[in-house]
Amino acid sequence: MKGLLVVFSAPSGAGKTTIISRVRAVEPNCAFSVSHTTRAPRAGEVEGIDYHFVTEDGFSDIERSGGFVEWAHVHAHRYGTSVAEVDRQLAAGRDVLFDVDYQGGRALMRRYPDAVTIFVLPPSMAEIRRRLQGRALDDEATIRLRLHNARIEIATAGEYRFTVTNEELDRAVEDVRAILRAERLRSSLHAARIRQLVAEEV
Ligand code: ADP
Ligand code: 5GP
Repeated sequence: MKGLLVVFSAPSGAGKTTIISRVRAVEPNCAFSVSHTTRAPRAGEVEGIDYHFVTEDGFSDIERSGGFVEWAHVHAHRYGTSVAEVDRQLAAGRDVLFDVDYQGGRALMRRYPDAVTIFVLPPSMAEIRRRLQGRALDDEATIRLRLHNARIEIATAGEYRFTVTNEELDRAVEDVRAILRAERLRSSLHAARIRQLVAEEV
């Protein structure tokens, strides 16, 4: 069966990195599309696992050679999804999870109309601030920029097929798994099996 393309967007701090890693821990067929970024690695982030960390020039080279399915400026840095990454995962028959901002979400929706799109909502704006402060990875100016951008990002949530509110983490992870389970039952993904049953001699 063909894998699913699953696009996650959310304002920074809503918890989508946490949700994606929890989902991947219990859904072995889910791969992660590792993006390229010009931002510096945060403590604990690993090259090739969390991101491909590249210089401005390195990013421009990939962009010029048509290596990105989509890319965007987000929070003063550039982030992009590489064609090679998507093709590699799909060829392996795996579901591919994307973590992209709303610009990336729109581009992927256009390119892959069958993609499953999920917007992760925070319980409140105040909770986003608390989580960004609690994560202790960004300075106050960065947190303020991310909060400003959060409103712009949330205003696009209605363009996504699903919304999941990340109030209680276990519940949010189960909601995502429920979506994946239903999407894997879509009849369009089972056309070969349907044809086989119609043709079966008894
Ligand atoms: P994002 O990838 O959306 O920017 P993260 O996954 O890094 O967000 O989460 C931001 C912070 O909030 C992290 O410190 C994470 O541990 C915490 N967090 C995530 N989900 C929850 C939740 N449901 N309740 C409380 N804290 C959470
Ligand atoms: P962070 O710096 O917190 O890891 O990510 C910042 C934002 O960039 C998040 O909204 C994340 O979804 C987005 N992002 C990460 N990778 C990509 C990508 O490849 N393309 C786009 N358009 N956005 C991305």
